[in-house]
Amino acid sequence: MQATEVSMKEVTQAVWNKRPLVISGPCSAETEEQVVETAVRLHKTGKVDMLRAGIWKPRTRPGSFEGVGTKGLPWMQKAKQLTGLPITVEVATGKQVEDALHFGVDVLWIGARTTVNPFSVQEVADALRGVDVPVLIKNPINPDLELWIGAVERVAKAGIKQIGLIHRGFSSYGNSEYRNAPMWHLAIEMKRRNPGMMLINDPSHICGRRDILQEVAQEAIDLDYDGLIIESHITPDQAWSDAKQQITPEALGDMLSAISWRKEDVASEEYHAAMEKMRQQINHLDDELLQILSQRMKVSEKIGRYKKDNNITILQTNRWNAVLERAYIKGEKLGLSKEFITKYFDAIHMESIAHQNKIMND
Ligand code: PEP
Ligand code: MN
Repeated sequence: MQATEVSMKEVTQAVWNKRPLVISGPCSAETEEQVVETAVRLHKTGKVDMLRAGIWKPRTRPGSFEGVGTKGLPWMQKAKQLTGLPITVEVATGKQVEDALHFGVDVLWIGARTTVNPFSVQEVADALRGVDVPVLIKNPINPDLELWIGAVERVAKAGIKQIGLIHRGFSSYGNSEYRNAPMWHLAIEMKRRNPGMMLINDPSHICGRRDILQEVAQEAIDLDYDGLIIESHITPDQAWSDAKQQITPEALGDMLSAISWRKEDVASEEYHAAMEKMRQQINHLDDELLQILSQRMKVSEKIGRYKKDNNITILQTNRWNAVLERAYIKGEKLGLSKEFITKYFDAIHMESIAHQNKIMND
């Protein structure tokens, strides 16, 4: 191994362990000039730790730009030489893994369309056997945690020690605000199941548009994510893929400056004492909520008994609509979102029906 390669491994290690870790670059490598200029301008912001670009693009429809292919790898290599930053590309086949490694790609990532397919993940994992390279694994397109975990297991079984997670949102029918719904709870559950594994957020593919990138990035940082991967292009509107969600390197720099980077913890006693007090308040309120919910179910059982005695159906749609309408109006005044009220009352309704069902069938 040459001295430069050894030191690059060390640089990559340091970057991999840096928090927050920021990865940026174009959705796709298009031309050598575009890759190099994006890289140099991103480096100039002083806020980017690793460069990304798609070389092979998995596209939903044939005929869309499918990536420049292997000829883009030397462009990435040049970007690395000019900036000193490690580079990462998406790999979806064994051959792509080989090519990427041949051209000195420092970190590989597995895309959302690959994570959904155990055959493809296995092929990538087989090509990684005996290789010492960090791998980032994006969540699968569909909200299925097991697929994501399966991909992590396949890569880990191939002997890869450094695995990180990228949360890029999930496809959901009828969702309009986001290109891919964040479903934060799934990523948080994934992190809980893989303690110590890096979790970075991909606001670009969650949002699919520029105007809400910062909001989503901030939310991820507030949720203690380890970093961000955000697409950047020198002329975003002219990008050959994902034009709507890309921003210039300078806009990225500004956005990163505007984010409040929070810490998970501080060593202040005053802070810990105040937190402890507020957490006790929360516990106390939760206890009260549970008591009240239990009382509510008891009343509901009583109604169930009445319905049974009078031979009435459990479900009375009009009544339930009235309950919901009332809750929306009250909830809004109390600062509770309609979405929350809907979910909360759906859960209460289901539990209540279960209680009444039991009474009916006793
Ligand atoms: C990408 O990062 O450009 C990409 C194709 O992302 P995803 O796999 O999340 O769709
Ligand atoms: Mn993209």
